Amino acid sequence: MIPLSVPKISGNEWKYVKDCLDTGWISSAGEYVNKFELAIKDYTGSKYAIACINGTAGLHISLNLANIGSDDIVIAPNLTFVATLNSISYTGAQIILIDALNDSWQIDVNLIQKWLEKNTETKIIKGKPATFQKSSGKKIGAIVPVYVLGGFVEIDKLLEISSKYGIPLIEDSTEALGSFKNKKHAGTFGLTGVISFNGNKIISTGGGGMILTDNKEIAIKAKHISTTAKKDSLHYFHDEIGYNYRLVNILAAIGLGQIENFNTILKRKKEIDFIYRNELNGIGDIKFQKNSPSSNPNCWLFTFRTKTMSKLLNYLNSNGIQSRPFWTPMNRLPMYSKLNYISEYDYSNQLYEQCISIPSSSNLKQSDQEMVVSAIKNFYNK
Ligand SMILES: *Cc1c(COP(=O)(O)O)cnc(C)c1O
Repeated sequence: MIPLSVPKISGNEWKYVKDCLDTGWISSAGEYVNKFELAIKDYTGSKYAIACINGTAGLHISLNLANIGSDDIVIAPNLTFVATLNSISYTGAQIILIDALNDSWQIDVNLIQKWLEKNTETKIIKGKPATFQKSSGKKIGAIVPVYVLGGFVEIDKLLEISSKYGIPLIEDSTEALGSFKNKKHAGTFGLTGVISFNGNKIISTGGGGMILTDNKEIAIKAKHISTTAKKDSLHYFHDEIGYNYRLVNILAAIGLGQIENFNTILKRKKEIDFIYRNELNGIGDIKFQKNSPSSNPNCWLFTFRTKTMSKLLNYLNSNGIQSRPFWTPMNRLPMYSKLNYISEYDYSNQLYEQCISIPSSSNLKQSDQEMVVSAIKNFYNK
């Protein structure tokens, strides 16, 4: 089986993990967490980077620090991985779902704008704008845009909305390590951004996450509440209800080994993307995800669109080529089916029915990629 997306362990991961094991520093203390945070901070250009146990926890902490609670409404895409919505749900906030764009597959920012114009009023509170739903009086607490497949959201438009309406952006950039726009990294535009190091992501710690922020106060609080809000470790004095969301040293050691090799991984991902685009262009009815010209996405997981997706999916999987459809849209999941879903053409459901992801691991062999390409060409020639 040619796998869809697996980690590539080829650097100092063994050495650093062995160091943790040899010294006994496997858990909450040790130097690798700091080193890994520093490496991510340097790579992304974020002022602060706070490690946590996974991306979902990073989103949850971020929403918490944006003071999101049950009096708030949070705006999120309908086409995403369930963790985006789960993290919002943990805060008790109400969720408004927004459809995707047909070409970039990212959240449709014009729909957000239209919904805000029609349904909300903006007041100036202590010199700053804040926006409330007219019917319920609930505050629009945050927008959580997702960088679908590491591609860029319409960040300029989102930043405009954010400042006009006084709504913070919590960027779900979990899939976007290595994605830049005009040299600025995904996840460094909003109040916070979150990176994931889950097993299928572009680099992995097994499980892990990182909160990015330029806000010192948020950074300090993020570290504090993700480490049980401990003020004094001798006396076990904790000054608020915190979370045990810290990343352990042994996982950070793997992360450090991974990020040291990231440029090689990223280069290979872009090669794989380039070859697929070249080879599959014009085959059957295949269409690719569109990226804005000023963006430089990480090409994490190659995905394309075809009307015969489910047949192709069966064909590839039964020929030893692991392939996957997109996520089931949030409005089709039982716990989220009653949410308000803002859409004109329901593109997210069309994308779900038509998109397929194919093997894109950075250690994908050239011969294996050729096999994937020829299997797809075969399928359409039948
Ligand atoms: C991976 C992912 C997350 C969650 O990250 P975990 O580290 O798996 O908790 C959230 N949102 C999206 C879009 C993701 O792809």
